[in-house]
Amino acid sequence: MSYKKLLFIAIIIALVGSVFVFDLTQYLTLDQLKQQQQALNQLFTERPLFLFGLYFAIYVVCTALSIPGATVLTLGSGAIFGLGWGLLLASFASSVGALLAFLSARWLFHDWVQKKFGQRLRAINEGIERDGAFYLLSLRLVPLFPFFVINLVMGLTKIKTWTYYWISQVGMLLATAVYVNAGTQLAEISSLGDVLSVDLLGALVLLGLVPILAKFILSFLKRRRAYGGFTKPKSFDTNLVVIGAGSAGLVSAYIAAAVKAKVTLIEKHAMGGDCLNTGCVPSKALLHVAKSIRQTRDAEQLGVTSRIEAIDFAKVMDNVQQVIARIAPHDSVERYTKLGVDVEQGEATIVSPWQVKVESPAGSKLISTRSIIIATGARPLVPNFPGLDQVDYLTSENLWHLRELPKQLLVLGGGPIGCELAQAFQLLGSQVTVVEMASRLLANEDTDASALVQKQLRDDGLDLRLNHKAVEFTERDGECVLIAEHENENVALPFDRVLIALGRQANLEGFGLEELGVETGKTLKVNELLQTNFPNIYGCGDVAGPYQFTHVASHQAWYAAVNALFDPFKTFRVDYSVIPWVTYTTPEVANVGLTEQVADEQGVDYDVTEYDISDLDRAIADQQAYGRIKVLTVPGKDKVLGVNIVGAQAGELLAEYVLAMKHGIGLNKILGTIHSYPTMAEANKSVAGNWKRANAPEKLLNWVQKFHSWRRN
Ligand SMILES: Cc1cc2nc3c(=O)[nH]c(=O)nc-3n(C[C@H](O)[C@H](O)[C@H](O)COP(=O)(O)OP(=O)(O)OC[C@H]3O[C@@H](n4cnc5c(N)ncnc54)[C@H](O)[C@@H]3O)c2cc1C
Repeated sequence: MSYKKLLFIAIIIALVGSVFVFDLTQYLTLDQLKQQQQALNQLFTERPLFLFGLYFAIYVVCTALSIPGATVLTLGSGAIFGLGWGLLLASFASSVGALLAFLSARWLFHDWVQKKFGQRLRAINEGIERDGAFYLLSLRLVPLFPFFVINLVMGLTKIKTWTYYWISQVGMLLATAVYVNAGTQLAEISSLGDVLSVDLLGALVLLGLVPILAKFILSFLKRRRAYGGFTKPKSFDTNLVVIGAGSAGLVSAYIAAAVKAKVTLIEKHAMGGDCLNTGCVPSKALLHVAKSIRQTRDAEQLGVTSRIEAIDFAKVMDNVQQVIARIAPHDSVERYTKLGVDVEQGEATIVSPWQVKVESPAGSKLISTRSIIIATGARPLVPNFPGLDQVDYLTSENLWHLRELPKQLLVLGGGPIGCELAQAFQLLGSQVTVVEMASRLLANEDTDASALVQKQLRDDGLDLRLNHKAVEFTERDGECVLIAEHENENVALPFDRVLIALGRQANLEGFGLEELGVETGKTLKVNELLQTNFPNIYGCGDVAGPYQFTHVASHQAWYAAVNALFDPFKTFRVDYSVIPWVTYTTPEVANVGLTEQVADEQGVDYDVTEYDISDLDRAIADQQAYGRIKVLTVPGKDKVLGVNIVGAQAGELLAEYVLAMKHGIGLNKILGTIHSYPTMAEANKSVAGNWKRANAPEKLLNWVQKFHSWRRN
């Protein structure tokens, strides 16, 4: 803590302490007030402004320092200044004092609390951002809650200062008026308890419930407005309609069938969605070929002379399709029908909150349903660059039809998809250029992780054009070129084929959302139950975000399905506390929890422990001695906040930490667990060992050393 803050705390302690040491609170009692009333009234007649200012200052100081006595001061303001002026004084003085206490708590402790408990406070912070004003108003309306506690605690939250001030002033006004009014009849009050009768207190408590009720009424009205104009069917054909049979839709339907609900799954294209057909599966199958090429190429170093005679690209791509075909039965109509799901192959349109139309070559069908899950996924984002419409560009969707290897492939976008595919094509024989607007690839990773991947990509021969902003596509000397802006100059980058890998955009259009009034932004707007503004319509997977991974889609699907089927009897808030993700380049980059970059942005305190994988026996034996594990822990504790691994099989190594974080297992327990020798997983134990050494109990060890020397002598 800074010197200024320590000094400030010392001053506050001195001030509050002297109030009690000199027993100043004796002047803030009802008896004192009654005794002094005449003198004070006299002073008010003689010097009204002086007394008003002095009284205001004393009131503010008392409230700001949280000194007991505000109630007597409020009574006094009625007794001395009358109802109107007294209320004005007490209302502003109490609010200004509360604001000062709030600001002090915020300045002194807010950052520390948010840093220390940032992760755990996330839900509270989100709640405060969403409903903080309602809760504060409720607390302020009921004079039973100690106001000084509210002032101090609110200072630790992320509530806006202005919101805090005006809600406090409005919320406290009624109770203040009651006390000021009572103060005008001071002679009739024999104790502070007389002011608030049980009835009056009850009324204020009821009033305190109003903001909370208002919140529920508002959301009820919002729901009613959304449903207005639609007639709910008396009965339904099915419990649940799921639109889209990708990772999110398949799992939703699976869960619904498993709990014996009647569920219809509608898919307009291919079962399995992006992951199976154009995403994870084909990309990983292609990366496997690329890795095999690398191994064969590098085998010479191991004493195995081998030469790659030729790469039959068309065969490689056919093999990718065979991999898809082998996995396809897992997601097939037959399998899901057997599981008890009604699968409809056609295009779905939501026509009312309870009706979905399916159109297929066989005709059109209307299905009534109690709930709907939207799992329509996302598609590649293709910005409108000038000249792009003249280029037969590739995306992750049509790439898999390619049967001729591009000689010069330009990959626009240095995110995970761009990097994975760029490296694969380079190893397959293309000359690949990656164009990235940012100063580094994989911008969501820590800088050192990006640097390790960039180094390998450059070693593989890729041309990385960082800080290059795409401007237009055109032709120069018969060649297709991308004009990119770099350091205020235009650079022409030639290519045969271009792959657009600039991110993915949610599929929100064309199936009734706009017509119905389902709220959307860049993705579907859903709450923590994954409900849209129509509470019986849910969303999960890429269409809902915020993470666009297969495992997150299926994780959300469980919540969406259970909530859709059991609301309002039982609901679950989706849990994003431990989300892993992996980029499958060589080296792989795997993450769970906080990266250093995000921890710094969120102001979370952490310790970092690293382990260099080039030291690991198995990695050396396997010729994979590169990369590192980085673990972020709570300072001085073994609790894991986040892990970032760069290296071979990083995604596999990560699993141990995902389990650890999910179930609160710390590094000490990982260190105490036997890991087979020689495995890559031993790296996890080694990093835990590094943490232990850095956190060894030095004092205790000094004593142990003395013990040993005593035993020697
Ligand atoms: C190249 C690439 C590599 C990837 N690699 C990985 C990876 O390694 N790991 C990972 O976790 N994630 C990866 N992803 C992301 C992953 O593929 C997605 O997060 C996942 O597929 C999302 O599943 P989803 O069910 O939300 O959407 P989708 O799989 O897109 O499914 C949506 C389905 O809805 C259907 N649909 C849409 N509208 C309608 C309608 N009106 N009527 C009927 N059907 C409709 C679509 O046809 C589609 O089948 C990758 C993505 C790409 C592009």
